[in-house]
Amino acid sequence: MTRGSTRRQVLAALAALGVAGCAIRRGVKARVVIVGGGFGGASCARALRDADANIDITLVEPNTRYLACPLSNLVIGGWRSLEQQSFSYGALQARGIRVLATRAADVDPVARTVTTATGATLPYDRLVLSPGVSLDFDGLPGYDAAAAKLMPHAWSAGAQTLLLRRQLEAMPDGGTFAIVAPDNPYRCPPGPYERAAVVAYYLSQSKPRSKVLILDAKDRFSKQSLFLSEWRRRYGKQVEWQGRSDGARVVRVDAIAGQVETEFDTVRADVTNVIPPQRAASIAVRAGVADASGWCPVDAATFESTLQRDIHVLGDAAIANAMPKSAFSAQAQGRLTATQILSFFNGLPPVSTKLINTCYSYLAPESAISIADVFAPDGQRWRAVSGAGGVSALDATPEDRRGEADAALRWFDTATVGAFG
Ligand code: FAD
Repeated sequence: MTRGSTRRQVLAALAALGVAGCAIRRGVKARVVIVGGGFGGASCARALRDADANIDITLVEPNTRYLACPLSNLVIGGWRSLEQQSFSYGALQARGIRVLATRAADVDPVARTVTTATGATLPYDRLVLSPGVSLDFDGLPGYDAAAAKLMPHAWSAGAQTLLLRRQLEAMPDGGTFAIVAPDNPYRCPPGPYERAAVVAYYLSQSKPRSKVLILDAKDRFSKQSLFLSEWRRRYGKQVEWQGRSDGARVVRVDAIAGQVETEFDTVRADVTNVIPPQRAASIAVRAGVADASGWCPVDAATFESTLQRDIHVLGDAAIANAMPKSAFSAQAQGRLTATQILSFFNGLPPVSTKLINTCYSYLAPESAISIADVFAPDGQRWRAVSGAGGVSALDATPEDRRGEADAALRWFDTATVGAFG
């Protein structure tokens, strides 16, 4: 199975189902409410609308503009602006999707309604939850919203991204920029390591006596050999990674004192970027679709919650097993969920398909690496298809790395048009 044919299959399924039209009850429009206008929710809304003009689609999202996380590390590195990360919901509205700029406050899975923070009650035939993650402030003692103002996470794009950038710019030469990386699972597995490279690039240009220190709660991470090799080759001793076996897991944060405690030591850096543990956003708990792990179990083929009927959960909030919590995955899951909802409305069986994911990571402004995988539903689990994926070559040429940096930008443009265009 090639990447192209997987995508074609999904698109073909959508097109076929779109022709069939929407027929949940004679003369009554089917109602889909989508909570969360990020990569998963917006892509699902767009795919549903493209496939069927007759469904009543409501997207509930409190922000009037979406600030995308992919490429936001480059804002911290100083060669991309936050404005380039910002997208409006105008195009979705122009497509006839009702966009409500409010928060979903509650879900009644029995009455099949969503209540918004403004007090509106939205009935649905199918509900899609793609609310992303909440930072788990209970998961790392000492780290909370107040601490995040001193030691930013920058794990949602916006004010936190700019704060971390300002702290990096203000850091003296000879200083240390510490990144506290969480254990799995969390949003964007390669993200902390891309950030290390991007910050190291800035330091190599502007503060050559400074270093990046990664304090990791785990021993293995995405694209590990590639990152370790490229950090060493490009930035030498400016990047130091310490894993769990080195005692580097951070167990307590004291933001006022400007230090973190690892299992082995107390570390005081000039800038500390704490990426805390995460769980599904709180509306998932309100809706009763999160389990004790804090994440949402779903039927692999349909992304329907295994805990509540008629509710689909996708993107970062869902347990999609081998599929990483990425925008690429969330978009693929959003499109597949649209297909499955159309199947349901048309009395057809769920479509069976594979999904792909590619995650690009920058090493410097014109250099990137990637990891790609194909995933197949296998019972209740998404499994990686053996031999179908791969990572960039360790010994790739600078031109290859530049090609991947260009591909990363093209992917971002295509993905954001697919979600918000
Ligand atoms: P989100 O995109 O977070 O969207 C969730 C939306 O739900 C938000 O807009 C939120 O406001 C809304 N919401 C939450 N609660 C409610 C509620 N109660 N009511 C209404 N709306 C609600 N992925 C990649 O594929 N490639 C990359 O290169 C990449 N780089 C990254 C770099 C960084 C630094 C980070 C942090 C992440 C990166 N990611 C990347 C991961 C990617 O951003 C996420 O996986 C993706 O955004 C998940 O999409 P989602 O729809 O699940 O959640």
